[in-house]
Amino acid sequence: MKVLIVYAHPEPRSFNSAMKELAISLLKGQGHEVKISDLYEMNFKASLGRNDFLGLTNSDHVNYVTELKSAYEKQKFTDDIGKEQEKLLWADFIILQYPLWWFSVPAILKGWFDRVLATGFAWDFGRMYDTGLLAGKKAMLSVTTGGLQAIYAPDTPHGWDINQVLYPVNHGVLYFCGIQPTPPFVAYAVFQVGDEVRKQYLQEYKQRLLTLDTATPISYNRLSDCDENFKLKSVK
Ligand SMILES: Cc1cc2nc3c(=O)[nH]c(=O)nc-3n(C[C@H](O)[C@H](O)[C@H](O)COP(=O)(O)OP(=O)(O)OC[C@H]3O[C@@H](n4cnc5c(N)ncnc54)[C@H](O)[C@@H]3O)c2cc1C
Repeated sequence: MKVLIVYAHPEPRSFNSAMKELAISLLKGQGHEVKISDLYEMNFKASLGRNDFLGLTNSDHVNYVTELKSAYEKQKFTDDIGKEQEKLLWADFIILQYPLWWFSVPAILKGWFDRVLATGFAWDFGRMYDTGLLAGKKAMLSVTTGGLQAIYAPDTPHGWDINQVLYPVNHGVLYFCGIQPTPPFVAYAVFQVGDEVRKQYLQEYKQRLLTLDTATPISYNRLSDCDENFKLKSVK
């Protein structure tokens, strides 16, 4: 497989870095091709704005959805965006490696979503979910948390299990664009658990990586199973 690892952590000695390095060496050792987008190292710009376009269709009032589509069609993106889009087109499988920050992704990764997953490139009107423009690719979130596993449950102060926390990325970003997410790998409370447990996490992650190409995607509703009002035809 061709695997793209999008990595969002600023610290080279972090546990996220250890997970990223493990994935690179293990996947290459298995014969997979691997590319990496190390967003902090690239100093990837996190905010979408008018200077992302080499020319605008309407500079009086920038409509970002239409401007993104026009820029993709006319190849009028800045170079950093174009290079990330090329990597995504190349990849069969995408790993997003990041620490959970505010129940979400680090801003630099959110910026990668905002700027790279353009209208016309990753999705379009009527081309979402199973019909998204990046259909055929699979992905996995590889995430670390500060919170213990036990607190990610409906009957705790957090109130959500980890799959609910990760739903906006798995479903609202990846699957929206047609990419099929496989179950996430989560290393909980990495700075609390101690070295033995962290080593165990790396062993478990290794096992997960070994079966990446046969991982079954998470099952979500399909746009192509819905009527014109977005209701599933089968549950009418
Ligand atoms: C802005 C912000 C928001 C946050 N929001 C949330 C939130 O909403 N929910 C939540 O649960 N948490 C939250 N956190 C906590 C965050 O998720 C954790 O700090 C993060 O996941 C820890 O991962 P790390 O890679 O930064 O770990 P690090 O702190 O870098 O590393 C943890 C430990 O692993 C050790 N280590 C590194 N490499 C190895 C190795 N190869 N083998 C063994 N040990 C190793 C390090 O030395 C260190 O002791 C937040 C933190 C921040 C800064």
